[in-house]
Amino acid sequence: MLSELYQEVILDHGKKPRNFGLMEGCTHSAEGFNTLCGDRVRVFLLIVGDVVKDVRFEGEGCAICTASASLMTQMVRGKRIDEVETLFGHFQTAVTSEGADLTGLDELEALVGVRQYPNRVKCATLAWHAICAAFDSPVSQEVS
Ligand code: ZN
Repeated sequence: MLSELYQEVILDHGKKPRNFGLMEGCTHSAEGFNTLCGDRVRVFLLIVGDVVKDVRFEGEGCAICTASASLMTQMVRGKRIDEVETLFGHFQTAVTSEGADLTGLDELEALVGVRQYPNRVKCATLAWHAICAAFDSPVSQEVS
């Protein structure tokens, strides 16, 4: 039962990704590639202080990659940078270690099944690598 529910979350977000598209006036941006699968994700952030005020992404990827990016955008909005990094560490452990604590992952739990398929782990974590890279990649603002 549970695995069917999780499957639905991945299919839903994979087909209809949330927060998909470019962002005008973003403060930070970075791109991630997964050569194993051909996934490409670019993450756009609006960071004010140390809080993620807005997040969008674009790119092309498999259902797992797209669903993961979509779920990520829903989970990180309003969080501090260090909270996002902690959540990523937690998620990374969950998708690589059998029996990891899933508390607080919410819908990301849908993706922990990838730990049965080590070559899909990168699909599930690509957007998270991209967002952490984006934290260190401020976009230079045009001065007019
Ligand atoms: Zn993939």
